[in-house]
Amino acid sequence: METESLKKTKNSRQRDLVLRILRSSKDHPTAESIYREARKTMPSISLGTVYRNLNHLRDEGRIRELSYGKGISHFDGELREHHHLRCLSCGSVEDVPCIIPKSFTEEVQAQTRFRIHSARLEFIGICGSCEETAVERKPEQDAGGE
Ligand SMILES: [Zn+2]
Ligand SMILES: [Zn+2]
Repeated sequence: METESLKKTKNSRQRDLVLRILRSSKDHPTAESIYREARKTMPSISLGTVYRNLNHLRDEGRIRELSYGKGISHFDGELREHHHLRCLSCGSVEDVPCIIPKSFTEEVQAQTRFRIHSARLEFIGICGSCEETAVERKPEQDAGGE
């Protein structure tokens, strides 16, 4: 039987692990891939525990949840303002390496009378590696269609 304080240590160790995995990854993992990674360090951790910790960290504002419907969420350990690129083909989520020009924010503010604190932009399309795969496949498809 675990005492209260032992339980607490275990819970915070699990939470720290989830947070560490998220902060060290750049590809906005899903709960499942965080779970797979976490098991390498803590084989006894369950998927439910990972979900619980992710929800808790999100509620505390220590991570961001990027929700795309159909129950698919990606998680982001980077809290500074940045924007995302989402691939419609493979579902990957990348950071946009550039910042939004201040003039754009000012333009939006002027046209909407909305005082803007921050912005979260999402660009949706096809990522580089999906694009490459599509180009590689094309000759085959063309041959088949004739
Ligand atoms: Zn893709
Ligand atoms: Zn991000």
